[in-house]
Amino acid sequence: MNADFIGIAGPACFQNPEYTGNKPQEVMPGVKSVIVLGVGVPRGAFDTLPKGRAEYTNTLMAATATLRIIAFQIAKIIEKEGDKATIVPTEGSEFGYWYADLETLKANLSIKYAVHCAGLGSFGMNHLLITKEFGPRVRMTAILTDAPLETEENAQLPFINKTCSSCMKCIEVCPAGAISGMGGLIGRKMCTVHVQYTWRASVRALC
Ligand code: SF4
Repeated sequence: MNADFIGIAGPACFQNPEYTGNKPQEVMPGVKSVIVLGVGVPRGAFDTLPKGRAEYTNTLMAATATLRIIAFQIAKIIEKEGDKATIVPTEGSEFGYWYADLETLKANLSIKYAVHCAGLGSFGMNHLLITKEFGPRVRMTAILTDAPLETEENAQLPFINKTCSSCMKCIEVCPAGAISGMGGLIGRKMCTVHVQYTWRASVRALC
């Protein structure tokens, strides 16, 4: 179906003490499996920044659209087999933002953490998920289902990506100073305030 990776996490993984977000059980009480899938984003979308911001955004949205179609097809297959399925908004998509908690800026569950639970990546200091094949250059989504599928949690990687301990570049360059270097924690408010400020400044410049 053109996904670059796919895996399965069990809802029990979200009970780990390292996870502080919302849980899939709160969305689907009978959830038994979290299917995660993703696509790598073409490199050109990054290499042409900053001039290519429109192209960058459009390429990300194309990845989101691709994942929606794949996830919908999988959900239909699951329901044909007699189980239920619902699709979590792709991280970074409009619905992820609209329905996030305005105080904590957290979505209904972390797709990044679900992908980590499925053994497909570790967190960077910048709180992005660093996947084996594409690094952080990915778009991901998840499907919640009451189908009891075999999970791949034994393949789990370390929570923090090993490369980070000898790098720390994102901490140095973050203009909001929002990356703490404390094991993948970021200052969400600091980040949001900075983004809103720069967005307002750019709108003012256009007026
Ligand atoms: S510390 Fe380096 S490798 Fe780790 S997320 Fe930041 S920039 Fe990437």
